Amino acid sequence: MQREKEKICMFVLEESVPILERQLSSHLESAFHRKIELTKMEINLDFAYHPKRGQYNSSDILARLRMMKNKECERLLTVVDVDLYVPELNFVFGEADSQNGVAVISTRRLGEEFYGLPGNPQIFLDRVIKEAVHELGHTYGLPHCPDPRCVMHFSNSLKDTDFKGSSFCDACQKKLELLSR
Ligand SMILES: [Zn+2]
Ligand SMILES: [Zn+2]
Repeated sequence: MQREKEKICMFVLEESVPILERQLSSHLESAFHRKIELTKMEINLDFAYHPKRGQYNSSDILARLRMMKNKECERLLTVVDVDLYVPELNFVFGEADSQNGVAVISTRRLGEEFYGLPGNPQIFLDRVIKEAVHELGHTYGLPHCPDPRCVMHFSNSLKDTDFKGSSFCDACQKKLELLSR
């Protein structure tokens, strides 16, 4: 059941490709039973840049997204292409702020090219979808899941991401239904 007024807003980069937008939107729509409102925009992320690390602090980006979140958006997901970190870790694929309903994911490390391998658009797309569902799942209050096939399983590396599916296990699905009511 879809409630019109509850929508997930999504910011993507200007240069983002239509196939990614379409597939990501339709996947998120069926995973969360919400309308997806997509906006193409260039966010200047200089404020989050750490010159020594050459990376962007994802928690700083979340703080900015909180201010940009429109009241009509139940959740806000932003897809960026810069390398993200949190101080305790070398990098993160994404981060979520469940209190405020905002999340960010980075495509930077999701392409085979990043690892010196030939590009594979399908693998890339699958990874983007999994990371997006995962972080949005956190915004609805879902914790990490011990089931390695569940999308809410923690990805320490892309091996974990590739192993898991893009959907919730039965337990997480039930929890999500209660949490997102
Ligand atoms: Zn997580
Ligand atoms: Zn699960």
